[in-house]
Amino acid sequence: MSDPSDSSGPSARSGSPGPLQVLNPATEEVVATVPAASAADVDAAVVRATRAQTAWAALAPGDRARLLRRFATVVDDHVEELAALEVREAGHVLGNARWEAGNVRDLLDYAAGGVERLTGRQIPVPGGLDVTLLEPLGVVGVIAPWNFPMPIAAWGTAPALAAGNAVLLKPAESTPLTALRLAELALDAGLPEHLFQVLPGHGPVAGDALVRHPGVAKIVFTGSTRVGKQVLARCADQVKRVTLELGGKSPNIVFADADLEAAATAAPMSFLDNSGQDCCARTRILVQRPVYDRFLDLLAPAIENVTVGDPAAPGTDMGPLISRLQLDRVRSYVTADMPGIRGKAPDGPGYWYPPTVLTGVDPGARVAVEEVFGPVAVVLPFEDEADAIRLANATEYGLSGSLWTRDVGRALRVSQAVRAGNLSVNSHSSVRYWTPFGGYRQSGIGRELGPDALVAFTETKNVFISTEGPAQ
Ligand code: NAD
Repeated sequence: MSDPSDSSGPSARSGSPGPLQVLNPATEEVVATVPAASAADVDAAVVRATRAQTAWAALAPGDRARLLRRFATVVDDHVEELAALEVREAGHVLGNARWEAGNVRDLLDYAAGGVERLTGRQIPVPGGLDVTLLEPLGVVGVIAPWNFPMPIAAWGTAPALAAGNAVLLKPAESTPLTALRLAELALDAGLPEHLFQVLPGHGPVAGDALVRHPGVAKIVFTGSTRVGKQVLARCADQVKRVTLELGGKSPNIVFADADLEAAATAAPMSFLDNSGQDCCARTRILVQRPVYDRFLDLLAPAIENVTVGDPAAPGTDMGPLISRLQLDRVRSYVTADMPGIRGKAPDGPGYWYPPTVLTGVDPGARVAVEEVFGPVAVVLPFEDEADAIRLANATEYGLSGSLWTRDVGRALRVSQAVRAGNLSVNSHSSVRYWTPFGGYRQSGIGRELGPDALVAFTETKNVFISTEGPAQ
């Protein structure tokens, strides 16, 4: 996911500030054309947001919390509409899209619960009283990718608002529609004007302007590791606060003592959900050698039975890829002569690619090392626990991972040894809005979600108040 124009229309590919063309990935039909924000638009938005933030931070915490709860309620009233929009602009299957809209509601509710609980500390010191104040940063820029447009926008936006900041959200080029609708719903809910603004635009134009703007105190960037490194370097110029959520190449480790049927049943959707366009996708399936063949026998029907097709139809497991560019990229990793298991996908218009599991791949091969961001996994055998840990950690990433075993001691040992931010045992769950999420190594910096989400949008100020009388 390196090219910043990944998901964009032709004008975005040239980096020009032309309008954004939103295509339905299942049909290739134009869904909408959206004007793209320029650098001057970003400047003007920062001025408006700065004013709105001052007033927002001065509101009583209970009032800010109430407005965010109302925003959550309005989102809840529009779950079906938002989900339908997500199906059309991103090709997500309807069940997922509904979950995503509900996730925005839940994030807002959860963050609202933190407003009155965002407390500093009182630290014992001689000669006075020492307290810490958690102050809002000011204006926060949230830059979102196309793969989960709604939830990821809300991961940054909800806690930033709750901590007293204003938010400027730049959605990805190909998926601006849900973000724009959320900004309208925020106003309907009574949030102050200009507090939460959406700036649809090209990454190298609007995104870059947000990153470079001295009036933006923090950037929350979710996207490719390549662009994330550029963002980090530009933020360094101003020592700007930054949270990065980047790529992944996560392992799914199956030990010989595991419940193999359960592991094989769960494996397909651990890398096929959202057509594999998931930073947490478990795309390296590591299987202990004595059960390798048996596991593949169980996995084959599970892969072949995955239903790929119209994302709006009930019962569809997997929809299309986001774009022609993404389809071409996924195809570049796989050749017809590679052995493995292949599912079915529709022909005709739309960006379709079948579920694919490759066997006999060298662990150093491109497809085993790079983030494909499509419905492609490799299966690699391992000998023992040490070998599994070595293979799991043989990556520059460190976002997620799963391990399957009936041995509790092993589950703990391997969880401690794998260098990744989000692990699950006998499960593939990674993301809950109330538990922390983020990556080791080149998967990112900082954590989102969970009980500390609001703190990441504050500065800590230490104040010492002397209790000594005036000098005589
Ligand atoms: P991308 O890096 O191409 O784009 C992400 C966002 O950055 C878009 O809004 C884009 O317009 C913007 N952008 C591009 N160039 C920019 C620049 N120079 N300055 C500022 N902003 C710029 O990524 P993508 O292809 O949209 O998303 C897929 C990637 O996101 C994958 O690598 C995936 O693993 C990663 N991702 C990570 C997480 C996580 O939480 N760790 C979650 C979802 C996706």
